[in-house]
Amino acid sequence: MNLPYAEPYKIKMVESIKRSTIEQRKKWIKEADFNLFNLASDKVFIDLLTDSGTGAMSDNQWAAMMSGDESYAGSSSFLKLKEVVQKITGFKYFLPTHQGRAAENVLFSAMVKEGDLVPGNSHFDTTKGHIEFRKATAVDCTIDEAFDTANLHPFKGNVNLDKLEKVLNENSKENIPFVILTITCNSSGGQPMSMENIQAVSRLCKSYEIPLFFDSARFAENAYFIKKREKGYQNKSIKEIARAIFDCGDGMTMSAKKDGLVNMGGFIALNDEEVYKKATVFNIMYEGFITYGGMNGRDMAALAVGLDEATEFDYLESRIEQVSYLGEKLIEHNIPVQQPIGGHAIFIDANKFVPTIPRDEYRAQALAIELYIIGGIRGVEIGTVLADRDPFTRKNRYPELELVRLAIPRRTYSQNHMDYIAAVLKNIYDSRDEAKTGYKIIDEAPIMRHFTVKFEKI
Ligand SMILES: *Cc1c(COP(=O)(O)O)cnc(C)c1O
Repeated sequence: MNLPYAEPYKIKMVESIKRSTIEQRKKWIKEADFNLFNLASDKVFIDLLTDSGTGAMSDNQWAAMMSGDESYAGSSSFLKLKEVVQKITGFKYFLPTHQGRAAENVLFSAMVKEGDLVPGNSHFDTTKGHIEFRKATAVDCTIDEAFDTANLHPFKGNVNLDKLEKVLNENSKENIPFVILTITCNSSGGQPMSMENIQAVSRLCKSYEIPLFFDSARFAENAYFIKKREKGYQNKSIKEIARAIFDCGDGMTMSAKKDGLVNMGGFIALNDEEVYKKATVFNIMYEGFITYGGMNGRDMAALAVGLDEATEFDYLESRIEQVSYLGEKLIEHNIPVQQPIGGHAIFIDANKFVPTIPRDEYRAQALAIELYIIGGIRGVEIGTVLADRDPFTRKNRYPELELVRLAIPRRTYSQNHMDYIAAVLKNIYDSRDEAKTGYKIIDEAPIMRHFTVKFEKI
């Protein structure tokens, strides 16, 4: 008998969320300059802006918070976290940071210099930001299948090995500080990498003597997909698979706000003592002493428990199956979404949803705004606004995909919320032909503009 999955937890505490009317939301979004980041959270009904730091902690995590050790140096919570990180990743050295981008800042300060190339699979925006800020270049080597949202390739986070080898071959290794693999790959749709591909990249890096790092924000979700989709891993535990992934590399950066199941935190883990020593100096300058790195003792204690819970199969199954449940509903309504459904989010294909809105009028942003106005649902644009301008020509970069991301917070919303979201989207989809115009930018920052950009309706 095949029984459906059900959440392996029950609810001990609830948090109210506010409903509002379409008229109210029209007014609020205009006051927010049509930037969803500018909305106060009480003006949002279902918040799918991000799955970063928005999940619910468990009773065990809350209990761990009470025993957090706030000592400046040598905190026992640090030592506990270090032990868990070493057990899960196998890496020798560990530095806590206040979040993922801080880990990037510290590590890249130690490793990346002007003129360098950093190959990878659709680098995340903060990763790319920290590379470009140092006048280096992020080279995207993702497989082409990733950019066709209807292609059912099971591992769309994979690297095209020929593209990668070309970069490694045509440049001196002094200019390639490392290769970085994002697991799962956020920018290409929460898509996983296969173990086979990770191992192949690892061999290639070894043959060119270039270190391999993981941007590991959703490494446990990636391990779940390997277990479900790749031959030979069905009987392996998530922890065994995660360890096998990390065994392929030299180090990692982590945003603990994702698969750490905490609201704030991050870290670096790596094997090279020289790099660790260099990074330590930057950690102390930017983050704090090496045994807290911008985190509270209690937050490190909660993270130690969170990492353990996030690498349990039952939790991951309910997490990924909830996202998939929403995705399947949308597919039933013929709404164009990235397929297969990714781990943490649904990605709506705005190029197919609203082709009637010109690209230079930010069609994915226009769709995200409509979703807020009609349903009080806050998603985020992953398209031209996020892709920013070319740092040299200052022209808009048009990425292959114009997406609206609906990121699902961990252990936070119910199946009813998923049904509500699907109903709202179906409503918008049914009247999509009426959408003819989008938005124009009236103010933007020189880098990572999407957080503060202001729009006007055309
Ligand atoms: C969130 C994220 C980051 C940055 O982490 P923050 O904790 O938000 O600073 C880096 N890479 C990936 C893949 C992410 O998803």
